[in-house]
Amino acid sequence: MTAKIIDGVAIARQVRVGIAARAAMLKSHDVLPALTMIVVGDNRASAIYVRNKVRACGEVGIKSDVIRLTADETEESLLSRIRLLNEDPGVHGILVQLPLPPHISVRRVLGTIAMSKDVDGFHLYNVGGLVIGETVFPPCTPYGVHKILEHEGIDLEGKNVTVVGMSNIVGKPLALMLMQREATVAICHAKTRDLAQYTILADILVVAAGQPKLIVAPMVRTGAIVIDVGINFLPGGKLTGDVDFEGVRRKASRITPVPGGVGPMTVTMLLENTVAAAERATGFRPAAESLFPV
Ligand code: NAD
Repeated sequence: MTAKIIDGVAIARQVRVGIAARAAMLKSHDVLPALTMIVVGDNRASAIYVRNKVRACGEVGIKSDVIRLTADETEESLLSRIRLLNEDPGVHGILVQLPLPPHISVRRVLGTIAMSKDVDGFHLYNVGGLVIGETVFPPCTPYGVHKILEHEGIDLEGKNVTVVGMSNIVGKPLALMLMQREATVAICHAKTRDLAQYTILADILVVAAGQPKLIVAPMVRTGAIVIDVGINFLPGGKLTGDVDFEGVRRKASRITPVPGGVGPMTVTMLLENTVAAAERATGFRPAAESLFPV
């Protein structure tokens, strides 16, 4: 068997067409969807991510602003800036690019962003909402994985899904979303004993561990769908995921590549959340809704 390669770039392009149409509709009602990003310090990866987000916003008609602060920005000053943005009706989404310098509490910062503008979906309210399926802004990477599965027409009900990685931004929220779809979800992490005994059971295997070649073909069930969230840079700079792509593609039925799989969808779901924030703020969409109804 050779897996179909899921083209995340093509799916993202298609989803973005719909987002651009919604942004245009808002503009025709004099609402310019707007995202403000805050970057503290000069992390190289953050600079690349933010640049990509700015470009993506421009492509779909979202106004983006970047507030760049030096690494010695105090926590109080940063929180004050966020509070001002919370009050600004011209700003629909607020994103604080992580990581932050160690003297700033990530939890306090994320908790200060207004729930209605929390387009990254990291506020405790939105995280908690996932438990009961009423999240207003699903976090972008797991939302992107969910969208890929939806786009591929994969029915999750009753499926065995193994999620490798249990971070707050990827593994845990994704597991909650999949459970909401009535999948049977196993969550594995660095302390899991004999990872393969869980991965081999998976109809759908999602890997978000940050370990190149963590998943090799013998760990994958024949015909499984494999979604690789990992982003790793090998010595020499080559970008790779967490899955041994060449080996696993011969056993899986579908697989996402890295790059070109989940990555483009993460940014796309940020655009989706930002337009949704603008729609809610202006009454074009209900303030609270169940995005993953059972
Ligand atoms: P993290 O470091 O916060 O969490 C990693 C998780 O993987 C932890 O739960 C850890 O226990 C688990 N893990 C680590 N080694 C393992 C092993 N050997 N066996 C089983 N589990 C193991 O990372 P994160 O922020 O969740 O990101 C995970 C990966 O996804 C990284 O490569 C990151 O760059 C990538 N990522 C990609 C996107 C995207 O848009 N494609 C977005 C976010 C993160």
